[in-house]
Amino acid sequence: MSRSGLQQFGFMPPTVVREPTRDSEGVHVCPECGYPVGKSKGSQRIEKPELEHVALAAAFDELITFGWRCDRHPYDIVMPARAGGPDANAMNDGWTGVELWFTDEFVRHVPVPKREVRERAE
Ligand SMILES: [Zn+2]
Repeated sequence: MSRSGLQQFGFMPPTVVREPTRDSEGVHVCPECGYPVGKSKGSQRIEKPELEHVALAAAFDELITFGWRCDRHPYDIVMPARAGGPDANAMNDGWTGVELWFTDEFVRHVPVPKREVRERAE
């Protein structure tokens, strides 16, 4: 069944989460297919995020982050911007860093709107 067919029935497969990758000219590209993804920069949605924090994992079945995405696959690939740590100091105010398992089995901080975490985790 095609992805669009699955979406019609309200089923969303887990999002593949990968580190942002740049080509030799510094352009952001998809790590799986090499397609330039610079234009997708913005808020992205991660379905069924594997959050490290148990309390957060229970609160989020989808997660808003900031970064890039590639839509040339049967599944979504999201490449979150580097948060820089738990206080997301690489980002503007309004974002916090939460620990997320990436598809490569490493845990990294990804930026999440502070408001989302405050609303859901309390
Ligand atoms: Zn791709």
